[in-house]
Amino acid sequence: MVKLSLVVPCYNEGENVIPFHEAALAAFRDCGYEIEIVYIDDGSQDATLHNLKKIYARGDCKVKIVSFSRNFGKEAGIYAGLRHASGEYVSLIDADLQQRPEIVRDMVKILDEQPEYDIVAAYQDRRGEGKVLSFFKKSFYAVINRLSKVRLHPDASDFRTFRRSVRDSLLLLGENHRFSKGLFAWVGYATCFIPYTADKRASGTTKWNFWKLLNYAIEGIIGFSTAPLRLATLFGTVSGIAAILYLICVVVEKLTRGIAVPGYATIIVLLLLFSSIQLFCIGIIGEYVGRNFEQSKGRPIYIAKEVIGEEEIDN
Ligand code: UDP
Ligand code: MG
Repeated sequence: MVKLSLVVPCYNEGENVIPFHEAALAAFRDCGYEIEIVYIDDGSQDATLHNLKKIYARGDCKVKIVSFSRNFGKEAGIYAGLRHASGEYVSLIDADLQQRPEIVRDMVKILDEQPEYDIVAAYQDRRGEGKVLSFFKKSFYAVINRLSKVRLHPDASDFRTFRRSVRDSLLLLGENHRFSKGLFAWVGYATCFIPYTADKRASGTTKWNFWKLLNYAIEGIIGFSTAPLRLATLFGTVSGIAAILYLICVVVEKLTRGIAVPGYATIIVLLLLFSSIQLFCIGIIGEYVGRNFEQSKGRPIYIAKEVIGEEEIDN
């Protein structure tokens, strides 16, 4: 029997995990697949772990629980889940029931029937978000697709099902700063995109706000492109050319009309402009140096405090 592993990152989803588990079991009843569900408790402060243990005790399907020592973020959760997923097919799905488990069945069907595809990724056909946010999201994808070699689908989410080979490839990428959409694009493989409509959150609130999204966007750009580093060269070249042209003007002016009266305001403005450009460029370099520093420490992506239901894994 083909085994399907569901990887479910959970952070403060105490009220959602049991309904999620029931929905997943209902969706896969008599489907002819062996189901394994890997729950990652991402350092939740509520009853998530307690309820996950209740689910485990039921024993109605193969369940693994990886409980983190603190909140490491969804990306770390996904990484841990992939490590513990043992199925031929692996699926990433949220615990809040926004992504219905029945859709995973459709994804698996595509993988079964169309061997040319290795990944089935769902994208949201109708987004229920405001105009401003959707403008920023569109701009982000336009920028990252232009700056980096990877191509990201603007609406694709982490809601995906893929073959084991894709999971193995993703695990080869051991970077600390993880940006899943980019990692999926980077490893390649033939991807089939299917539309889906996200439901309302079953309970609780989203962990994202504008600043977190902005940080995530910066993470994506810095992680997948070195183009921002070239900005300093670009600014330097443009301002250098402008300075030479201005120098010629000043010399010509001096020779033809005598000594020009120096402009105080112009000097201050130019000084401020160029110091801010320099600081901006140092900031960009700093982002890359900082990531290099983080990675060079070789710290693990997550720390598991407790692992339940796993017989053996080389940690
Ligand atoms: N999540 C996580 N760690 C975090 C934040 C979120 O494991 O630090 C999980 C969360 O429990 C949920 C999924 O990631 O299962 C998606 O989070 P959320 O629903 O907040 O995001 P949205 O659906 O609004 O994009
Ligand atoms: Mg959600």
